[in-house]
Amino acid sequence: MNKTLLILLAPFFLLAETATDIQISWAKQHNLFQKGYFKSNEERFIKLVEEGQSPKTLFIGCSDSRVVPELITDARPGDIFVIRNAGNFVPTNDAKIEWDGIAASIQYAIEVLNVKEIIVCGHSHCGAIDGVLAPNKVSSLNDVAKWIRFGEEARTILDDEQKDGFKVEDPNGFAGRMSVLVQLDHLLTYPFIKSRVEKGELFLHGWYFIIDKGQLEVWQDQGEQSGFVPLNHKISN
Ligand SMILES: [Zn+2]
Repeated sequence: MNKTLLILLAPFFLLAETATDIQISWAKQHNLFQKGYFKSNEERFIKLVEEGQSPKTLFIGCSDSRVVPELITDARPGDIFVIRNAGNFVPTNDAKIEWDGIAASIQYAIEVLNVKEIIVCGHSHCGAIDGVLAPNKVSSLNDVAKWIRFGEEARTILDDEQKDGFKVEDPNGFAGRMSVLVQLDHLLTYPFIKSRVEKGELFLHGWYFIIDKGQLEVWQDQGEQSGFVPLNHKISN
């Protein structure tokens, strides 16, 4: 190998070394999974292959590494069909778009797996919601800038709330919770969802996870009393 090529490739060798360290670390963690969780749940995994999956719930959450759907719901493999994306947004149904991985996953969950409920789960300290509230900060990120338009209605609701000089204490928390409701509305733009909801065959739920409290909230639709309440209040009284 000539000297110039060596100099040019040097950064990649360094990168490869770091990448190997990371792979070793993953290998060790995978070993822990195989010897621990998999070993104790092997029969369940085999059954899920033999009988196929039949989750009852489609969970749409944020890609944020701090919000792990299976962890916060204590779900097992096979329990929830999960879609995660920045901001837990649901793109509105648009026949003009030729491909949309999120719409495809939603359709598969409803029309093939026949899930009975869809949970849209937002969370505190969400970076995508920060982007919705300050689009100029993400304007240089072309894909992010396009994507966060699906949360724009939440910013409008926040602006309305603050229009008479009233200051919302936690704008990210307020807009994040409102965005969950906006995404539930977006789900209804899919005819195969709307018809099932109208027939009472499919239920939509809005959740919100507060990271530093480990607390899930659920949207309770009760007219004037509507709001997000702790999910476990449903079992504590
Ligand atoms: Zn987020």
